[in-house]
Amino acid sequence: MALEVAKEGQVEAKPKAERQTNCLACNKLIKKLKRYYREGKFYCSKRCWRAFIDKSKAEEKK
Ligand SMILES: [Zn+2]
Repeated sequence: MALEVAKEGQVEAKPKAERQTNCLACNKLIKKLKRYYREGKFYCSKRCWRAFIDKSKAEEKK
C-alpha cells in the first residue's frame, strides 16, 4: 500500500539541514555578530540563554 505518497513530495528532494537562526528563548533572528553560543544552541544574548535554561529546567521537573 502506498497511502503515504506525498502530495508535493518530489518538489524538494534535498534534505534541508536545519540551521538554527532564531534565538530559542525569544525567537528573534540571530545575527552573526551578536549570537551567543551554548551547548550546541544559539541565543541572541546571555540573558536569553539563561531564560531558556531556566525554562527547560522547569519543564524537566514536571
Ligand atoms: Zn533571544
